[in-house]
Amino acid sequence: MSFLRVASLRPLVCQLLSKVAFSDASFRLLALVAMRPKRRKKKSNLLPLSLALSGLGGIAAYVYLNRTIEPLPPALNPDQFITLPLKKVVPYNHNSSTFVFELPPKTSSKLPVASCLVVRATDPEALKSNGNPVVRPYTPVETKDNTNELVLLVKKYETGVMSKYMHEMKPGDTLDVKGPIPKFPYKENEFDEVALIGGGSGITPLYQVLTHALSSRFNTTKFKLLYSNVTEQDILLREELDALAKKYPSTLEVVYLLDKPGNDWKGPSGFVNADVIKKYVAPPTQQRTMVMVCGPPPQVASIAGKKAGMKQGPLGGVLKELGYTEEQVFKF
Ligand SMILES: Cc1cc2nc3c(=O)[nH]c(=O)nc-3n(C[C@H](O)[C@H](O)[C@H](O)COP(=O)(O)OP(=O)(O)OC[C@H]3O[C@@H](n4cnc5c(N)ncnc54)[C@H](O)[C@@H]3O)c2cc1C
Repeated sequence: MSFLRVASLRPLVCQLLSKVAFSDASFRLLALVAMRPKRRKKKSNLLPLSLALSGLGGIAAYVYLNRTIEPLPPALNPDQFITLPLKKVVPYNHNSSTFVFELPPKTSSKLPVASCLVVRATDPEALKSNGNPVVRPYTPVETKDNTNELVLLVKKYETGVMSKYMHEMKPGDTLDVKGPIPKFPYKENEFDEVALIGGGSGITPLYQVLTHALSSRFNTTKFKLLYSNVTEQDILLREELDALAKKYPSTLEVVYLLDKPGNDWKGPSGFVNADVIKKYVAPPTQQRTMVMVCGPPPQVASIAGKKAGMKQGPLGGVLKELGYTEEQVFKF
C-alpha cells in the first residue's frame, strides 16, 4: 500500500469515526481498511500508521458493537387512558394467562422502575363498582424496550372482577390502559440488601425490580425473594426466576414457599411468618435494608399491615413486631 493511498483513505476514516452512528456499510468499509492484510514490503515506515489504523478499526468495532439503539417513546400516558387491542392470549398455567396487547407503531411499553399501569374496560358501562368504572393495577412482565407490545401476566380469580373480565377477552377486543403509575423510585445500590416478599400474582412488581436491578453490571445489592403460592403449579415466572438466580448467584437468592406442598416438595411450606423472615431477611438493625411486599391483601396485612387504599398505611404485622421501621418497608 503506497503512502499516497493510505493518506487518501485517512479523511474517509476520520469522517467515518466522527459519525459515531455508523451504517453497516460504512462500518464494513472501515473494517476492511483496518483489517486489510499487509503486503510484505521492504523496510517500511508505514508500520505506525498501520497500527494506528488497526487501532481505529478496533475503536470503530467497539463503538459499533456497543452503539445504543434509541429507545422508542413511551406508549402510555399517565394522565389519560389509551385503548389497546389485544393481539393474543397465551395460557400460562391452570389459572393464569399472558395477554399481549398491541401498542401504537414505534412506541415502547417500558416503564420506569418501579411503576405499574392501571386498566379499565373500554366500555365504561361494562365494569362498574359503586357507580364507578373498575380500575386495577398490573405490571408488564416483558421488559424489552422496542417490542411494540405490552405483555401482562394475569391470574384469574373466580370472584375477581377485572381478572375474570380479562380472561374472557378475545384477540381483537380492547382494554383501556393508563400509566406509568410510580410506585417505588428504585436507585441502584441504595440498599445493601433488599428482601422481596410476594404471593401469587404479586410477583410481577417484584420481578420488575429484580430484572431491572440485576441487569446492571454495577449492581451490588443482594436480593432475597420469598415467594409464596398455594401449590407448586401456581408459581409464576419460575423458569425466569430460576434463570436469574443461576445467573446472579451472589446477588439473588430465591425461596419458594407453598401453602399446600406435594409429597415431593423439598422447600419450606406454610405462610411467611416471623421465623421465615428471621431466617432469610437481614435484621432491621442492619442499615440499608429494604423489604418490599406485594401479594393478596391478607398476606400484605399479616406481613406489613394493611395498605390504606393507594397509600402505604401504617406499618404492622410481622415486620413491625420484628422491629423494622416504616422507612424500611414498601407495600406495592
Ligand atoms: C402494583 C400492583 C401490580 C399488580 N400486578 C399484577 C399483575 O401483573 N398480574 C396480576 O394478575 N395481578 C396483578 N396485581 C393484582 C391486580 O391488581 C388485582 O388485584 C387482581 O387481578 C384481582 O383483581 P380482580 O378485580 O379480579 O379481583 P377483586 O374483585 O379486586 O377481588 C376479588 C377477590 O380477589 C382477592 N384479591 C384481590 N386482589 C388480590 C391480589 N392482588 N391477590 C390475590 N387476591 C386478590 C380479593 O381478596 C377477593 O377475594 C397487581 C397489584 C398491584 C398492587
